[in-house]
Amino acid sequence: MSHTVKFMYYPEQEDVRRIIADIRWRVSRQGDHSGTDIVRFPTNEVFDNEDAAMAYIKQHDRGNYDGIAVKFRDFSTVQDTIQIKKLRYKISATLTKKDEYIHTHSVKTRKPIYISCPCCGSKLNKDRLSSNICPLCRTDLRSPSVLQKIKAFDEKIKDYETAIKKEQLKRKGEAEIQWLVKYEYHC
Ligand SMILES: [Zn+2]
Repeated sequence: MSHTVKFMYYPEQEDVRRIIADIRWRVSRQGDHSGTDIVRFPTNEVFDNEDAAMAYIKQHDRGNYDGIAVKFRDFSTVQDTIQIKKLRYKISATLTKKDEYIHTHSVKTRKPIYISCPCCGSKLNKDRLSSNICPLCRTDLRSPSVLQKIKAFDEKIKDYETAIKKEQLKRKGEAEIQWLVKYEYHC
C-alpha cells in the first residue's frame, strides 16, 4: 500500500473545470483508482519558473491526496540568448571536468594495492573495490580535499543554473504561462 505523486501541465487558457475533470479521470485509471478528488487553486501568483512553482506546492501540500494547481512561466519554448548559450556551454564544460577529476582521483588510481579505511580501519584490496565506498562501513575512501573539490564543481554548476534563470527573467514576456498540477493516487 503506497501512493504515487504525479504532476501534469496544462496551458494557462485551459478551463479549470476541465483540469479537475482530467485529474479525476487520470486518478480513476491509475493505481487502485482512488486519490486526488479536489484540486485547489490557492494562489494567483505566476511563479518565475517550474522550480519555484514546485517549491510552493511542497510548502502548501496539506497531505491526504491534496491536489494543487499553480501557474509558472515556462521558458522551454523561448530561444536561448547568446548569454544563456554561453552559460549552458560552461555547465557542460564543468561537467566534463568534474567527470575527468572523479576518474583520475578514484581510489583505483592509488599506487598501493591495499587501502585502509579511515573510518573502520579495514584493509581493502583496491582491485576488488567496485566503487570509492568502503564496503564495510559505507565511508567514502577519497580524501576530504578530493571530496571538497567535487563539491566545488557542483556549486559552480548551480551558480551557472541560477544565472540562466536570472537571464531568462529578462524576457518574461516571451515565456508561456502553464499550470503545474500536483495530484496523487493510491496504489
Ligand atoms: Zn570502512
